[in-house]
Amino acid sequence: MAVPLQIHPSVASLPGPKDSYGRAMNYLRISLTDRCNFRCLYCMPAVGMKFQPRDEILTDEELIRTVGLFSQLGVNKIRLTGGEPTIRPHLVDIIREIRRFDGIDEVSMTTNALILSRNARELKDAGLDRINVSIDTLDPVKFKMMTRGGRFDLVWDGINAADEVGMKPIKLNTVVVRGHNEHEIDRMAELTLEHDWHVRFLEIMPMEGVGIVYDEGLVTSAESQATLEQRFGPLQPLETDPSDPARLWKIPGARGSIGFISPISAPFCEACNRVRLTADGKIRLCLIRPDEVDVRDAMRSGASDDDLLRLLRSGVWRKPWGHRVAEGDRNTIRGMSQIGG
Ligand code: SAM
Ligand code: SF4
Repeated sequence: MAVPLQIHPSVASLPGPKDSYGRAMNYLRISLTDRCNFRCLYCMPAVGMKFQPRDEILTDEELIRTVGLFSQLGVNKIRLTGGEPTIRPHLVDIIREIRRFDGIDEVSMTTNALILSRNARELKDAGLDRINVSIDTLDPVKFKMMTRGGRFDLVWDGINAADEVGMKPIKLNTVVVRGHNEHEIDRMAELTLEHDWHVRFLEIMPMEGVGIVYDEGLVTSAESQATLEQRFGPLQPLETDPSDPARLWKIPGARGSIGFISPISAPFCEACNRVRLTADGKIRLCLIRPDEVDVRDAMRSGASDDDLLRLLRSGVWRKPWGHRVAEGDRNTIRGMSQIGG
């Protein structure tokens, strides 16, 4: 799908290093680990998933140093993700260290919430502002199938624990996959009647290792919206932050909102304000394109902070625009869990 090369005016004025199109990157998403306690069918292959050797993963010190350098360049928002970020050792300390940087205004996390009920309070106290939880269905049997073994009850406890300690707003991410959960997304949307949660429906992306699931499973946002409107009547549009990939709606009278994230049918490159740090220390410039900058090797070969700042600035400058997934280009090289979705 061709994407017009015109940036949204709001991304030019953000803090953070700029790319050659004039988009400023104020948002860094960090994959803390490529490992996970689930095996979601749209994220990892059923067999043959290879994990990176431990010595290739950034150490806590390298990770914190990289965040500090990005904050010097103007990045002010951090999201921790993975793999499953809650299984990274020293997560609480990592959050606390990140919060020490003056420039960092917000730290959030994307998690499957499986073990969140154990430590939501501790994470919040360390400085974690809010969470997004991936949950594709409210049916425990289907949940087990889609995550290849996940326990719905524990995830549900985790979401409620985060809500109780005030990690607001709670956002729930549902990847809609044909043949699995497309007929029950109304039950997910129904949660917004009772809770002030944001339930967001994502189009599946053809990441490395899950190409077949994408080919058979893509449900566009337009189709998901039509399914919901059949059940609830016309959704009410809500004003949306331009750099939020979700377009927001609401069931009239509901407490929460409904979002559609449409990387395939409506890419949001014009308002993109984010870069990613992979668990093995590469700056990933776009989720669906392979361009990367190696910070870890530069650090391990003795680069000074000035050298690294130059590397980050010139790397961000090369951030690409657009993808050609609809035309069959699947050149992502890595799976979602390795990049940090
Ligand atoms: N383990 C955490 C979780 O599941 O929330 C964080 C990592 S996960 C890779 C981050 C997000 O990527 C989740 O919301 C997940 O649903 C989404 N995701 C994974 N594979 C995807 C795919 N092929 N297409 C679209 N979204 C995907
Ligand atoms: Fe794990 Fe998240 Fe990928 Fe599911 S989507 S396998 S929970 S990393």
